[in-house]
Amino acid sequence: MYQFHWVPANSSRHASTDRRPDGALAYPTGTAVTTLCGKTDQVADNSELAWLWSTCPECYEAALRMARAADG
Ligand SMILES: [Zn+2]
Repeated sequence: MYQFHWVPANSSRHASTDRRPDGALAYPTGTAVTTLCGKTDQVADNSELAWLWSTCPECYEAALRMARAADG
């Protein structure tokens, strides 16, 4: 299990290492998150449409690095 989670926020699909609420599979809509691309106070949008937003390239790169590190 990697340390980050994908989170649609502010019109892009970002990744975040923030803790999710216990038992939640995604950050609930309205959750303030800090993203891997260094943005703070992004507001999560867990709507179906939001998951279709394009991936933030900076978060993608950061997530890739973390995934590779985790895989050794
Ligand atoms: Zn991002």
